[in-house]
Amino acid sequence: MSDTAVIEIRNLHKAYGALEVLKGVDIRAKRGDVVSLIGSSGSGKSTLLRCCNLLEDSQQGDMLFKGEPVTWKGRDHGRRPSDPKQVLRIRTNLSMVFQQFNLWAHMTILQNVMEAPVTVLRRDPAEVEQAARAYLDKVGIGDKCDVYPAQLSGGQQQRAAIARALCMEPEALLFDEPTSALDPELEQEVVKVIKDLAAEGRTMLIVTHDMKLAHDVSDHVVFLHQGLIEEQGAPDDLFGAPKSERLRGFLSATH
Ligand code: ADP
Ligand code: MG
Repeated sequence: MSDTAVIEIRNLHKAYGALEVLKGVDIRAKRGDVVSLIGSSGSGKSTLLRCCNLLEDSQQGDMLFKGEPVTWKGRDHGRRPSDPKQVLRIRTNLSMVFQQFNLWAHMTILQNVMEAPVTVLRRDPAEVEQAARAYLDKVGIGDKCDVYPAQLSGGQQQRAAIARALCMEPEALLFDEPTSALDPELEQEVVKVIKDLAAEGRTMLIVTHDMKLAHDVSDHVVFLHQGLIEEQGAPDDLFGAPKSERLRGFLSATH
């Protein structure tokens, strides 16, 4: 069982009405794997992450969380997950970090980090507070517990969002362009946190436009093009010797 993937997706198809966004995608992340998803805007990266987290329905394909298949009801165009407890278990175990941080503006940073573990997971508030303070320390903003998001820089807000994701004690972290909204100098403080998490052996799926980050932290890189995996491999191979013309074009445009 040690080879069981934390997240596995096979032949995933997802359309919005007539628009086919994912046309048969396979993704697999074992415990401790860092998998990066790269590709042009509109290639389906965010949709794929949202499907992992069951934030989107899909039309076809299998999804497994730690070997447990997602069960669906309805068929084809109408299918959706059939077991709300399974959805909750999977969603709380795959914590998302968004490009725009999505912190609650009316809550302090500490309250933001504590909210879901207390209200969704019903953990003991005193224990959650201790953990939340430790995670905020870990991402370097332990002194910001009592301020509101608007009082922080973008980089600090994103680090708070990462602490919030960690405080769920998830099996894996899903990042959707975590540094895209940040100025270059603030980007680096978030990159450092992500690198530290990778070095700790966290399981992560990272959608990023930052090819250096993808190269440096990933075990595996997936290049999506128009809803299909065009090329994938180890970062040195993918970035050092890209085979597909489209990937070569994409990489030369992003450098
Ligand atoms: P990426 O993250 O790679 O930029 P997305 O997954 O966000 O790409 O989007 C893929 C395609 O799906 C785009 O054409 C986008 O316009 C479309 N799309 C995304 N979300 C929706 C939605 N909720 N309804 C309709 N179309 C959508
Ligand atoms: Mg996106």
